[in-house]
Amino acid sequence: MELLREIVHYYTKAIPPREPEKGRQSYKPPWSAFESLAIASKALRQLALESWFEVYFSRSPDDLLHVWPEFELWTRELHCVELGTDLQIRPVQWDLRAFRRLCKLRVDFDPSQSNAMLLMRFDHPRHIASQLQELEVHDVSWPSPMVLRVISQAFPGLRILKLSQDLVWCNLCNICRFATFKDHPPDEIAYVKFVGLPKHYAMYLMPLTHLHTVELTISYGLGGSTSLSKNNDLVWTGECDACMDMMFTGDDFKREWIGRKKTIEKPPSLRSVIWHFRHKNLEDVIVDVDDEPEGGADHDEEDDT
Ligand SMILES: [Zn+2]
Repeated sequence: MELLREIVHYYTKAIPPREPEKGRQSYKPPWSAFESLAIASKALRQLALESWFEVYFSRSPDDLLHVWPEFELWTRELHCVELGTDLQIRPVQWDLRAFRRLCKLRVDFDPSQSNAMLLMRFDHPRHIASQLQELEVHDVSWPSPMVLRVISQAFPGLRILKLSQDLVWCNLCNICRFATFKDHPPDEIAYVKFVGLPKHYAMYLMPLTHLHTVELTISYGLGGSTSLSKNNDLVWTGECDACMDMMFTGDDFKREWIGRKKTIEKPPSLRSVIWHFRHKNLEDVIVDVDDEPEGGADHDEEDDT
């Protein structure tokens, strides 16, 4: 049986997923890809089902309440679509208790809603939220450091954190914006030596003692004044084009700012921070970039403006 399990594992891992970057729909391969295995024999059917339900896709908290008892053993990754808004955080709750071996949670939000605090719906029960090793969140409407604070409080065992959304939080003006550059940036910028995060992101991630990788995917447009295409001597970590254009004209401030970024303290196990860039036209961005949410961004910083 163990050999069969290995073979099925090998077979199912080779099935390509459906566009993982596409939000609010399952990226699991279709069941038809598993079907021939499932009808071959009783033992293979069992193993095919186990493999198929390693990732469980759910559009509603109710879906989690009536799952098969076996999911407790099979499901390692939960992929949830949450279309709610910050205006009604509670009492809606995604109850993770049926998934005792869960390692990864992916949450896809509705980018047209204010949703930055909605991850608070996913921390129950506490012992399962605490054992999660990977969190992937798509389409946070307002990726200010407050989101990072919610994450570090709700999921203290994280090793990998991935955030993917249109906007970026600028550590100079403390506002979430659509990034623009002079030309196309590289597909990714990876930081190993320096933290590579806005200072307040790093600060709120500090309690995550096992966190070793952070990946941030943002959208960008052209028409900005700064280029990241040749080198990254700015040690760019989300600064918006308006700030770079205005505040980096003086060499002294620019040098001091870059120097400060190089000395930001790392969360204890952090090894790499990777920024991914995807080109998008501003008119295709669903989030209203001028619409700051109630409560605003964090304006409590003493030294960043
Ligand atoms: Zn800015």
